[in-house]
Amino acid sequence: MSRPPYTESFPLFRPIHARIDFDALRHNYLRTRELAGGARMWAVIKANAYGHGITRIARGLAGLADGFALLDLEDAVRLREAGITQPILLLEGFFSPKDLPEIAARQLTVVVHTFEQLDWLASVSLPAGTRVPLFLKINSGMNRLGIPPAQAMAALARLRAWPHAGVIGLMTHFADADGERGVETQLARFRPLTEGFDGPLTMANSAALLRFPQTHADWVRPGILLYGASPATAYASAEQIGLKPVMRFEAKVIAVQHLQPGERIGYGGIFTAERAMRIGTVACGYADGYPRHAPNGTPVAVDGVRSRLVGRVSMDMISVDLTDIPAAALGSVVELWGEHVSLDDVAAAAGTVNYELLCALALRVPAVEVGNADVSALTG
Ligand SMILES: *Cc1c(COP(=O)(O)O)cnc(C)c1O
Repeated sequence: MSRPPYTESFPLFRPIHARIDFDALRHNYLRTRELAGGARMWAVIKANAYGHGITRIARGLAGLADGFALLDLEDAVRLREAGITQPILLLEGFFSPKDLPEIAARQLTVVVHTFEQLDWLASVSLPAGTRVPLFLKINSGMNRLGIPPAQAMAALARLRAWPHAGVIGLMTHFADADGERGVETQLARFRPLTEGFDGPLTMANSAALLRFPQTHADWVRPGILLYGASPATAYASAEQIGLKPVMRFEAKVIAVQHLQPGERIGYGGIFTAERAMRIGTVACGYADGYPRHAPNGTPVAVDGVRSRLVGRVSMDMISVDLTDIPAAALGSVVELWGEHVSLDDVAAAAGTVNYELLCALALRVPAVEVGNADVSALTG
């Protein structure tokens, strides 16, 4: 049987991979930039770039992204060592004063969201002339991180008084930009603080960027859009937004079973054959990041033909229905999500969100890169 060339790329003994498409990534970046209407973009690459590989995605966007946003100092250092020169934003700031010398030396941009962090800034001594760009995070209603609006001016005054303060910006984050409540209540608390403020402002995650242009300001912070998934599936699908999936998660059929009507499949026997059936056992399970709660009927594609999951997801295997795909056999490629099966459909079936599926991709799944990384801008 002839197959498209990508199926030859399973790099390990066990036939499973996540195919990462740099061309789709760049397409999504440019599409998101179009939607952001002139705002600069922090490409959010936390959580191992939503499972896609943090240095891989940074390489993929190296010549394009205005900046990168993440959580871990170690990751930021790795990007600097890989030659990334753009601003890098530490979304949760620093967790201890001892991290500040490295943050300053690596020229990272830091979110400050507690008064304790303000104390820590005052407590460290940095080389003369050091300037650290900062964003003061305001809690406008998410109630997770941030200074209450009533204390924002006091915090801002303390930041300005820090001798190493570089450019100071204001930031907030929305709790329901993908939902019915939207952003207005939070905007009403944030906006007064920004009047007459001359530093950069950043508010929008992907959902706000997509749905509420009034949140675009100077910098937007898209994550999920860059990976080609919708931040608000109730409002628009990835396809409707004009995005392309960056990840294609695939594994091969490693065994074929012939079932008689009434026979059951897998742990607990939660699927019973309705007729004589041909079942493919696939080299992918929940230890690879496939959701264990995916029920019977969750979509898959076998050699590009839509089919369904049958039986319970095991640690290392799943079973799929091959009955109506006569050409399918041992070695057939099963797409778990990507091109023929949308991530959002799998997430909906499994009762979770696209974000969780991407982030849960296991480290044991090898990545295969296709298309061109934009490495021209890398110096390292
Ligand atoms: C994760 C995160 C984002 C990106 O969220 P998406 O919904 O993926 O766009 C933006 N801002 C902050 C503060 C975040 O933690």
